[in-house]
Amino acid sequence: MYYSTMKVAVLTSGGDAPGMNAAARAFIRRAIWEGYEAHGIYHGYEGLLAKEIKKLTSRDVGMIINQGGTFLGTSRSERFKTDEGRQEAADILKAKKIDALCVIGGDGSFRGALNLSEVYKGQIVGIPGTIDNDIPGTEYTIGFDTAVETAVWAIDKIRDTALAHGRLFLVEVMGRNSGQIALSVALSCGAEDVVIPEEKNNIEGMVKRIREGREKGKRFGIIVVAEGHDEGGAIKLAQTMEKDYGLESKVSILGHIQRGGTPSSYDRVWGSRMGEAAVRFIKNQYTNVFTAMKGGQLVPAYLKEAVSGIRTVEPEMVQLVRIVGS
Ligand code: ADP
Repeated sequence: MYYSTMKVAVLTSGGDAPGMNAAARAFIRRAIWEGYEAHGIYHGYEGLLAKEIKKLTSRDVGMIINQGGTFLGTSRSERFKTDEGRQEAADILKAKKIDALCVIGGDGSFRGALNLSEVYKGQIVGIPGTIDNDIPGTEYTIGFDTAVETAVWAIDKIRDTALAHGRLFLVEVMGRNSGQIALSVALSCGAEDVVIPEEKNNIEGMVKRIREGREKGKRFGIIVVAEGHDEGGAIKLAQTMEKDYGLESKVSILGHIQRGGTPSSYDRVWGSRMGEAAVRFIKNQYTNVFTAMKGGQLVPAYLKEAVSGIRTVEPEMVQLVRIVGS
């Protein structure tokens, strides 16, 4: 009897995140260890549509575990959002005889993967890779730890200037729809306050707390602002605070430095573990699942769970920032 070799492929999609390389590397090497033929699809769904598919060896993924970004490249693909685009992608995967596809990315990429499953008959497994840690159904997404470390590193420097000049700084961190980064950064930096999209911002209360702090002898302050909060970013918030409350501040926007850079060991470990788990899930016949961390363990969770609703922040964390930063 003739058995054909199982063919698997991996792509990275959407925003890049440190640790994606560790995940792709582990996926490729575990697949080869299993006896599968492993392929890399370059530049996300757009690259899939352009047939940028290459068979990879273990050596092809050497020297990447310590690199940020993604060696496969990534993209945002409008074509893949259309029914025709996804049908074309499914036809390409079928023609290339790819039995299983691993998608490393955020909730948008997972939504795309789930929609692809309507026309692609192979298995699909996701690995949560986004610095935002905002995917429902998993306690962790690859890249978060490195992004938080980078922001903390930057704010530690800003703090020196804030202290020297006795200034209040509003530092904007990433998080269009999620305050996860802002909360961890604020707590790690000993910030006085945190402003996140999930919470209606009470500027009056914030200004009051800062003034009380000054009366108690605080000479400077740091407020961490998630870019997506309802006031519209740190610059607008600073303008409102000055115009309406006469409170001056300096603004620093950390921006894209939070995305790249050498992945932390935490992201390398969990990237590797999730990459390995993805192959195991494929071997065990799972489909439309992703490698989810639940209670500190990696388990298969349905992609549906990841694309339904939003991951909520713990209100106690917000309170904790204010208590320990007061
Ligand atoms: P992330 O995966 O980091 O959340 P995006 O939201 O930009 O990033 O999504 C990445 C890509 O996934 C998009 O450019 C698009 O090709 C695909 N995608 C997102 N949402 C959908 C959808 N509803 N249907 C099909 N494809 C989608």
